[in-house]
Amino acid sequence: MICLTCGNKMPEDAYFCGLCGAKIRDKVSETVHHFTPHGGVKTTVCYFDINHEPCVKEKACFMEFREYDAVGNEIYTFTAHKKIKDE
Ligand SMILES: [Zn+2]
Repeated sequence: MICLTCGNKMPEDAYFCGLCGAKIRDKVSETVHHFTPHGGVKTTVCYFDINHEPCVKEKACFMEFREYDAVGNEIYTFTAHKKIKDE
C-alpha cells in the first residue's frame, strides 16, 4: 500500500507510515461480511483513541460501526465506547 501523505510504499499490514509517521486509516479498520441487523451485508469497524484519532484496535477507546447494503450504500452508523479494563 502507498502512504497518502508522502507516497512511501509500505507493507500491506502497516499501521503507520515508516517514513512520515502518518496513520494509515485503512489499516485501523476492519470489514466484516455478514448480514447486519439493519439489512446490510457488511459492517466496517473503525477504531479511535481517546482523542478520536484513528488508532489500532488494541488502543481503541471508541469504535465506529458502519453497515452497508449489497450495492455499497451506507445504511446505518453507530459508535460504541470500548470498556476500559481495570488493571
Ligand atoms: Zn508517509
